Amino acid sequence: MAKVAFLGLGVMGYPMAGHLAKAGHQVTVYNRTFSKAENWVEDYGGQAAPTPAKAAEGADFVMACVGNDDDLRQVCTGAEGAFSTMSGGSVFVDHTTVSAKVTADMYAAADAHQISFVDAPVSGGQAGAENGVLSVMCGGDEGAYARAEPIIDAYAKICKRMGPSGAGQLTKMVNQICIAGLLQGLSEGLHFAEKAGLDARAVIDVIQGGAAGSWQMVNRYETMLDDEFNHGFAVDWMRKDLGICLSTANENGASLPVTAIIDQFYKDVQNMGGGRWDTSSLIKRLRTL
Ligand code: NAP
Repeated sequence: MAKVAFLGLGVMGYPMAGHLAKAGHQVTVYNRTFSKAENWVEDYGGQAAPTPAKAAEGADFVMACVGNDDDLRQVCTGAEGAFSTMSGGSVFVDHTTVSAKVTADMYAAADAHQISFVDAPVSGGQAGAENGVLSVMCGGDEGAYARAEPIIDAYAKICKRMGPSGAGQLTKMVNQICIAGLLQGLSEGLHFAEKAGLDARAVIDVIQGGAAGSWQMVNRYETMLDDEFNHGFAVDWMRKDLGICLSTANENGASLPVTAIIDQFYKDVQNMGGGRWDTSSLIKRLRTL
């Protein structure tokens, strides 16, 4: 069993750190809002630390799941960041969805401290984190990945090294590009069914097992029809992710016309007050046009 620190106890990090404790690891947690760290200790045992640096002292592995690029920089290399106290030979595993640029910067900064840095963004949402069945896509050195994989396994259904540093984040970008187009297609299909006077539930019943079926269709159609959008992944986070995808595409020459337009549709949703609605709220935009 390993000594593990976990930084960031949000929707995702709180249950992920819980799975590490349940697996028998010795876990120290840090959260910017300290009361959440205290609640976590009440739920799972372990210890709470007041700063990333304190949490990381003596840890074999430091895992993070914070918000965006700036947040990651802060917990790694900011004042009282984890890199200042991590021991040589230890591994930092970043589960935040961030840009290729910050990943390259943190990999280099870690290397200067003789620390390994593995980018390991996740998919599977809040339910995947709570049930310990996330898909984890990793980038980094083979040896560091091999050491981190058994720790990550505590909350993963699948964990795979996709290549050198940054390959995990690039894989997550593919995931988000696929989801964006799919959700708009599903929104348009349901919207059309409603306008055509069909029983949209019956329509889904007939088509979900065929070629148009998808995880989003099976798991989101009912709440989309009920105009409920509080199921996890927020539009604000999606815009962060699509921004990362589009700027990376700008650099590598990929053409993402649908992703670009759906990013603008999500901007409309934000302007409707839906920044914290879940990503299936694209249908609400169609209903209000
Ligand atoms: P969240 O609930 O908003 O939690 C974010 C966490 O990061 C909180 O613990 C927050 O602390 C902490 N944090 C933010 N800025 C910080 C800073 N500057 N310094 C220290 N801590 C900071 O977000 P989430 O839904 O767990 O998502 C976390 C990451 O996973 C994001 O990159 C997101 O894109 C990605 N992700 C989310 C999902 C999902 O379904 N939610 C799925 C896949 C990937 P406070 O408690 O003090 O605010």
